[in-house]
Amino acid sequence: MSGRAGAAGPGRAAGAGSSARDWTRTSELWPAPLTVGVVSDTHMYPEPHGRSLPTILLDELAKAGVGLILHGGDIFAPWVLDQLAEIAPVLAVIGNGDSGDMRRVLPRSRVVMVAGHHLGLVHGHEGPGRNTPERARLGFAANPYVRCVVFGHSHQPYSRLKDDVILFNPGSPTDKRRAPYYSFGLLRIAETIEPELVYFV
Ligand SMILES: [Zn+2]
Repeated sequence: MSGRAGAAGPGRAAGAGSSARDWTRTSELWPAPLTVGVVSDTHMYPEPHGRSLPTILLDELAKAGVGLILHGGDIFAPWVLDQLAEIAPVLAVIGNGDSGDMRRVLPRSRVVMVAGHHLGLVHGHEGPGRNTPERARLGFAANPYVRCVVFGHSHQPYSRLKDDVILFNPGSPTDKRRAPYYSFGLLRIAETIEPELVYFV
């Protein structure tokens, strides 16, 4: 069940002709307005539940009309990104749990530009800072243009404005740990960035 009202039959609109492994070549420069889907910490092993992300996640991302999907790391299996790339182009970073295939092709952090907005994407497990949001924010301290930092690692959904920087953790859609609900996020970007956390059970 979704945390938001929604119509049935989303359909899987193909995102700009995405196909498997396109996520290694996704552009980091995007025009606004753009709705960005944000997912992190899928922690799905190579052969999990029928090799699929939760249907509700895929349906809600498609229904929201996302034009880009960010994954904050701890992906665990490349097919996770392949599946997201069927909905929209995917940009990802590695987390502390990622190895092999993904370490060869994905960075530890990256900056995504949507029109004039610079978004930092990092898992949030390394560097200085007392907690995950602080480590994520400090990871981009040298870049004054970054006004929104997307991260993961804690599996705790988080959306705060700190010192004019939006700190956004979508939680996890598959491994919620201590959080009461599974979750993912949306960033509606135009003149401003409007973050939304979406919860489901
Ligand atoms: Zn992690």
